[in-house]
Amino acid sequence: MLLKDKVAIVTGAASPRGLGFATAKLFAENGAKVVIVDLDTEASKKAAAALGEQHLGVAANVANEQQVQAAIEQVIAKYGRVDVLVNNAGITQPIKTMDIKRENYDAVLDVSLRGTLLMSQAVIPTMRAQKSGSIVCISSVSAQRGGGIFGGPHYSAAKAGVLGLARAMARELGPDNVRVNCITPGLIQTDITAGKLTDEMTANILAGIPMNRLGDAIDIARAALFLGSDLSSYSTGITLDVNGGMLIH
Ligand code: NAD
Repeated sequence: MLLKDKVAIVTGAASPRGLGFATAKLFAENGAKVVIVDLDTEASKKAAAALGEQHLGVAANVANEQQVQAAIEQVIAKYGRVDVLVNNAGITQPIKTMDIKRENYDAVLDVSLRGTLLMSQAVIPTMRAQKSGSIVCISSVSAQRGGGIFGGPHYSAAKAGVLGLARAMARELGPDNVRVNCITPGLIQTDITAGKLTDEMTANILAGIPMNRLGDAIDIARAALFLGSDLSSYSTGITLDVNGGMLIH
């Protein structure tokens, strides 16, 4: 019970096969009251209900300041505190540099980077007042190695931006005992990857992964539990690679 009685918000957690839902489920199993924030009201409520009745599902586009503020007001009204925020919502687009149009850039950067900033801004006053909190940001190996498998350069840029934002927030919020850390997942089997990998592609990818398997959502959830809980009590500003050895640096 590493998160007993803690209140944990996970964004982008309504997708049943996603990293966010796996994280929400593991947090709930560890005693947390979990808030699922995703685009669709019904999907968010359904995902929260699947975890048990003490959890909450709310709709918000993480890139929309009003919607984010309204969601956090609901959380404070129900639970009165926020202990953990996992900035997980993200989208990707497999396009090349010369094909990135303004709308592609805006869409991808808005969710990962603006969303991480807005959600963090919405919980920081509460965490500061509590003098405790943990913010976990989901970046990507593609930020570190210059592209993953499915994301275009704008996705790498958004996820690299998340690393910089998180590190700077870690420095700023450390004195208030609010920790900010990142996870950089490798290739994890979720709806982002579903049906898009041929056997040949999988074999080529596995050749570059020393652990010789793709990641599972639970692999990321366990890392998020480490960073969200007191197991990582003296870690802030770190980047935790969860990639099976795909990138060792
Ligand atoms: P997913 O598509 O299964 O889930 C993403 C969730 O985010 C969905 O539920 C979606 O509705 C939600 N979402 C999208 N835009 C949103 C918005 N504006 N506001 C609120 N919610 C929004 O994806 P996943 O594979 O579980 O990925 C989760 C995170 O991990 C993403 O940030 C992704 O970039 C990152 N990541 C994934 C992998 C991978 O291999 N799957 C690797 C590295 C990083």
